Amino acid sequence: MICEICGKEFGGRGTEVIIDGAQLTVCPNCAKFGTRVEIHKEERKLYPKKKKVKMPAKSDKEKFIIVPDYSKIIKNARENRKLSQKDLAFKINEKESVIHRLETESMSPSYTLAKKLEKALEIKIIDKISEVEIPKLDTDSKNLNIGDIIKIKKK
Ligand SMILES: [Zn+2]
Repeated sequence: MICEICGKEFGGRGTEVIIDGAQLTVCPNCAKFGTRVEIHKEERKLYPKKKKVKMPAKSDKEKFIIVPDYSKIIKNARENRKLSQKDLAFKINEKESVIHRLETESMSPSYTLAKKLEKALEIKIIDKISEVEIPKLDTDSKNLNIGDIIKIKKK
């Protein structure tokens, strides 16, 4: 058998996989790049033609910066409002331990959490956020990338 991905000859029957909507017979090494063919009649429905999905250049975390003294800001704002950690936690629908960890700097807030805190305490702890929309990742993006790799190899 000759692998349809890497072009190497190999022994055995080969593995039929779906990659980027195409069914290929590949060597065991390349089988991991695709989805194994199991039920032939369903494969087309499960793997429709690829959609254009742009991978985000940076992870969600890098899109914003939490101000360095967020702990103090949160604590001060909370105390000014005469809220206990528990009260604040309740207000933003989080666990009391989350507030505790934030105020002791043992945890930095996620963007969503920071936003909730900003709103609840009328503070500013998010320093900067990129204007770039973060595209939603779905399972297609994985297939798309593999497809693109194959196209490059075929050139
Ligand atoms: Zn191969």
